[in-house]
Amino acid sequence: MASEQYRADVAVIGSGIVGLAFAREAARRGRSVVVFDRTPVPQGASVRNFGMVWPIGQPPGEQYARALRSRAQWLDLRAAGAVWAAECGSVHAAYESDEDAILREFATAAPGLGVACEYVEGAGAARRFPALNPRGLLGALHSPTELVVNPPAALAALPKFLAEKHGITFRTGVAVARVEMPRVLTATGESWTVTRAFVCSGTDFETLFPAEFAATGTRRCKLQMMKTAPQPNGWTLGPHVAGGLTLCHYKSFEVCATLPRLKARVAEQYPEYVKYGIHVMAAQNDRGEVVIGDSHEYDADISPFDKPEIDDLILTYLGRMVPLPDPRVAARWHGIYAKHPTKPFVTCEPQPGCVIGVAPGSTGMTMSFGLARDWWEAHE
Ligand SMILES: Cc1cc2nc3c(=O)[nH]c(=O)nc-3n(C[C@H](O)[C@H](O)[C@H](O)COP(=O)(O)OP(=O)(O)OC[C@H]3O[C@@H](n4cnc5c(N)ncnc54)[C@H](O)[C@@H]3O)c2cc1C
Repeated sequence: MASEQYRADVAVIGSGIVGLAFAREAARRGRSVVVFDRTPVPQGASVRNFGMVWPIGQPPGEQYARALRSRAQWLDLRAAGAVWAAECGSVHAAYESDEDAILREFATAAPGLGVACEYVEGAGAARRFPALNPRGLLGALHSPTELVVNPPAALAALPKFLAEKHGITFRTGVAVARVEMPRVLTATGESWTVTRAFVCSGTDFETLFPAEFAATGTRRCKLQMMKTAPQPNGWTLGPHVAGGLTLCHYKSFEVCATLPRLKARVAEQYPEYVKYGIHVMAAQNDRGEVVIGDSHEYDADISPFDKPEIDDLILTYLGRMVPLPDPRVAARWHGIYAKHPTKPFVTCEPQPGCVIGVAPGSTGMTMSFGLARDWWEAHE
């Protein structure tokens, strides 16, 4: 195949949220940037998620601070007219005493941890967060820092904005077949000479640098999701909603001495939820649709076919926390993300100037802008 020759300072492989964040940061620093994606429109994890920017789930300290820096960039993009984003905040609702104990403990420790949140007792929580089921509501942890974005809309709008505002070139529907620094070679015969290349290929571990990917120990995780139609009569969810299962899921709550008691009860009371890695969250987008999830199945357990029983378990649990005016499911899908067992993000440099940046796990929407800026600040 005849090769066409091009030049840019920086190539980014993958136009998911990680790739867009690295591309934007490079362009902000004056680099000419080309972004490749093998699909004409985004299909990866970045369009399949809740759209939650979720600092409250990050471990207090550096990760939480990075999430807040990332959040600030989403708000900058909103101010520039690039995306819709709402400062909805979040509530974790407690319907059991062990859940309530964790919320109280976390809220008490929060000022010392630098985390912005407050505990609201049952009746007050029911008044303040009317979407929550007031029956049996013992208390809620409110955090003001969470945002909601609409992932398919944001991932469609951001490339247009980055092309117009920052002059980034997008080569969509073009797969990168090889990186041989300083060249990036596409399956369509383009050869780009660059000084840096970022491989932000999500769950594709096989096309580029398979041996290096295997060495990182990165895994794949499948999540089942649903959404309702727009809720009737302008009903609003308000803050993102999460419950007891989520307290067991996110690392932020591991600082709580009361967590093991909840985990033990969940293991006994909800073995099916534990088996499928289910925790239950809900977000409402700008169309009024309520996005609901999710489950976690890894590697060999990942089937192309979804499990209706997982959706049923999720909806049953959500029904106790949020009685939706119209709970009918309008769409079902699954997404797969890359995740490292211990690291919040994986970077490595398989060739000089070529950086693999993957596997933010469940935090890509929350962390990517902060990750990219921190990476560039450390390597400029
Ligand atoms: C169901 C679900 C819910 C989630 N909810 C949230 C949430 O609410 N908040 C949050 O913070 N995070 C959430 N996440 C996590 C978040 O979505 C991911 O961390 C993030 O989207 C990963 O982004 P990425 O850019 O690495 O991958 P992707 O979005 O998968 O993008 C990778 C891109 O690389 C392209 N590509 C791969 N190989 C090549 C190649 N050789 N040449 C050209 N292109 C290539 C692919 O086509 C793809 O577009 C969720 C994830 C899922 C699946």
